[in-house]
Amino acid sequence: MKPNQLARELDTAHRHAINAASAGLQDPALGAERLTGPVVGRLADAAVTSATPFLRAPLLAKISAVRLLHTPPAEDDAGRCPACNTPVPCDTFRELSW
Ligand SMILES: [Zn+2]
Repeated sequence: MKPNQLARELDTAHRHAINAASAGLQDPALGAERLTGPVVGRLADAAVTSATPFLRAPLLAKISAVRLLHTPPAEDDAGRCPACNTPVPCDTFRELSW
């Protein structure tokens, strides 16, 4: 995954999260606590922006751990992936390189 592709996907995920949060804040099931008006989008953006690091950190840690599992030993760069036993670099390693 290229850096620009990752940035685009993160922006897209952020927009989707804001839309979902906006819909949740305006849910009629909230009754009198339901929010409406232009402030909803700003509140949803603030909520998603605040929560994102807490959601992203565990995901990035897992991605890093998976990448390490698929990293060949330095002295065996022409060998096979220690996790999936395919020629290096394996598909997983390539996908997680950016
Ligand atoms: Zn592998």
